[in-house]
Amino acid sequence: MAQREEHGDASTLDGMPRLGLGTWQNTDPQACVDSVRRALEMGYRHVDTAQAYDNEEYVGEGIAEADVDRDDVFLATKVWIDNLAHDDVIETAKASLDRLGVDSLDLLYVHWPAREYDAEETLAAFDELHDEGLVERVGVSNFEPRHLDEAREILDAPVFANQVEMHPLLPQDELVEYGREHDVNLVAYSPLARGKVFDVPEIREVAEKHDASPAQVSLAWLLQRDGVAVIPKASSEDHIRDNFGALDLDLDDEDVEKIENIDERGRQVDPGFAPWN
Ligand code: NAP
Repeated sequence: MAQREEHGDASTLDGMPRLGLGTWQNTDPQACVDSVRRALEMGYRHVDTAQAYDNEEYVGEGIAEADVDRDDVFLATKVWIDNLAHDDVIETAKASLDRLGVDSLDLLYVHWPAREYDAEETLAAFDELHDEGLVERVGVSNFEPRHLDEAREILDAPVFANQVEMHPLLPQDELVEYGREHDVNLVAYSPLARGKVFDVPEIREVAEKHDASPAQVSLAWLLQRDGVAVIPKASSEDHIRDNFGALDLDLDDEDVEKIENIDERGRQVDPGFAPWN
């Protein structure tokens, strides 16, 4: 059973740094290379990409250019829903490794349980990649408890993490509870609700109280939850730096209560093939 650091620890979860850089829609080659390099040189040690983001090559270049050892970077990518048949998983994962310019991945996710996803077939290929040492940890994304139950049953490798949309407007209490019970880490995507949290009055009040930014408040709220990592996407240097500062923001019980009492709810990423649709 993996060891989880104590509640509130802001560094790693079973070897995964709790603050990572998201890269969805960071597709301009130079901008993507620069943002990954800058983030790593600023102290980030976790980068999240996906086959579908069309930027694995630039993410890899950013890692290669940064003055940080590859071994010190936790690198995650995801297999797209068209590539989830057994042989396609193997082939396209190897192509991702080539594009990223690395020998192995720290974490490889099933991007969505959709289209070509077949639990037995898809997950057998993930186990093979894991056995071969090309993938250190197996993850899933956008999985609901029923998919997690099935995946945990089928996989030989542990389900290391479930990456799902999570922020103060979508707290995902059921998945957090599931993760605690079954030792599945949660990686919060769109942790700023793609900008929607910036206008929420309660978030602004807490930010003013701490002389922090609303982005930092949203990230700090996620980070004080047990078993949760965050991967905000930022391309500008200011945003990358601002988000890193969330590691130094301690929210008190009153702040946490205020954020947990926000009534507004909203999901930002909601494609027709999502399992909840
Ligand atoms: P997000 O991180 O919630 O928000 C990103 C947006 O906020 C960008 O427009 C960014 O602008 C802006 N921003 C970032 N930091 C800021 C700050 N400190 N102050 C003001 N604005 C700031 O949204 P996301 O990109 O959807 O989610 C994050 C990552 O999660 C993705 O990049 C991707 O890696 C992952 N993700 C995974 C899935 C999945 O299905 N597994 C789905 C969605 C996302 P700039 O770019 O201009 O800095």
